[in-house]
Amino acid sequence: MTPQSEDFSRWYLDTIRKADLMDYTPVRGCIVFKPDGFELWEHIQEAMDKRFKETGHRNAYFPMLIPESFFQKEKEHIEGFNPELPWVTEAGGEPLEEKLALRPTSETIIGHMYSQWIQSYRDLPVLINQWANVFRWEKRTMPFLRTSEFLWQEGHTAHATEEEARQETMQMLEIYREVVEEVLAIPVWKGQKTPSERFAGAVDTYSIEAMMKDGKAVQAGTSHYLGENFSRGFEIKFLDRDNQFKYVHTTSWGSSTRLIGSLIMVHGDDRGLALPPRVAPIQLVMIPVGPAKLQAKVMETFDPLFDAIKQAGVRVKTDLREETPGWKFNEWEMRGVPIRLELGPRDVDNNQVILARRDTGEKITVALDQAVDTIKQLLVDIQNNMFQKALAFRDAHSHLDVDSLDQLNELISRTEQEGQPSGWVLAGWCGTNECEAKVKEETKFTSRNIPFEPPAVKETCICCGQAAKQTVWFARAY
Ligand code: AMP
Repeated sequence: MTPQSEDFSRWYLDTIRKADLMDYTPVRGCIVFKPDGFELWEHIQEAMDKRFKETGHRNAYFPMLIPESFFQKEKEHIEGFNPELPWVTEAGGEPLEEKLALRPTSETIIGHMYSQWIQSYRDLPVLINQWANVFRWEKRTMPFLRTSEFLWQEGHTAHATEEEARQETMQMLEIYREVVEEVLAIPVWKGQKTPSERFAGAVDTYSIEAMMKDGKAVQAGTSHYLGENFSRGFEIKFLDRDNQFKYVHTTSWGSSTRLIGSLIMVHGDDRGLALPPRVAPIQLVMIPVGPAKLQAKVMETFDPLFDAIKQAGVRVKTDLREETPGWKFNEWEMRGVPIRLELGPRDVDNNQVILARRDTGEKITVALDQAVDTIKQLLVDIQNNMFQKALAFRDAHSHLDVDSLDQLNELISRTEQEGQPSGWVLAGWCGTNECEAKVKEETKFTSRNIPFEPPAVKETCICCGQAAKQTVWFARAY
């Protein structure tokens, strides 16, 4: 496996193949999510879905094929997505009367349906989420992080008032923050996208942004306030309490299998994956050790211990394959399992077990009757430690003192020379597209978001030196 410090992208590609998370297919940018990769997605889904339902949303499913004419109803939407759309033009051996796009997102078809379902204020709000695949014919692709077909959830809601729709937009952004920080142990900045990075057709786009171990950024989830843009395009009107017909205010929000890639890039190391306990499909692996002739004796303790750990609600697996313990240790380390439990004949004699942490490499010896409680506590500690480690890394690579393009260029060349990540810069921005574009052109740093709670407030634009209107995170991004 290529070390991270040598070539981070290579390390990433080696790791996901070695851990058997995915495979490539003959179709450009379309990958197989193999069982171990898909299982990560299932745990992310579970954490998200639970919170969507707790906040009153229900799941539904809409078709994947969208008539071309639907895209014409929102001008910015089609302009934004047109270059990325794959089309179906023929079916059953006949050309279609109207070509059909493979959905890149479902505002249009859902808008069309909502216009039929919503008549009165009594029909509102509509709070629907869909788990689906979508297609965006990306120029650059990277497994999980940017694929041409990906899996995601997309929420689509309709509300009587702007205020309520805006509250929804923020509520869902907060749910993304919560899942990504508390379950995936990835620290994020919540904030607003600049107009140039806004979702095509949105009034306002908000995102959570995370830093990978190579210092690059990933947009880990987005929530959009769409205003009346889609309700006007699709005639989604309702009769309000005051007997007036009004357009609904809509929102949409999405997070995707990109989160799997982020998880790997934030926590992984030269030994392979490292999974935070809350999202790890296997939280603890039990491995018997010692000579084969003493195996039966070990199993007398091993089996009931497995039952007790399982009973305690821990996702536990045993590895009884005929391989050496050392081989198994490496294998499960590479797969990122948070805790390894070793039990040998001497441990049985001493009424103890050995627990090894994936996050720190630390090994502890614990009394057998304390094992279950210790494991439960360790899972909490590991989760917290992984978040804190990622947070410390992010903050150490966030630069708050870069005030001009010269300084940014200097930072980039210095860090490149040192073989270090250039990280992110918190920069003032005058608010013009020109300055944002110039930063990108000269440095490949793009605006990530305007954080709601910036760690500092910048006074002057990093590009033109004029008074700053916003404080923005800039970074190279996936
Ligand atoms: P959007 O609908 O453009 O706001 O995207 C919603 C979310 O989907 C983004 O926040 C990303 O996390 C994710 N996403 C966008 N494009 C891709 C892609 N090509 N592959 C994987 N995830 C993506």
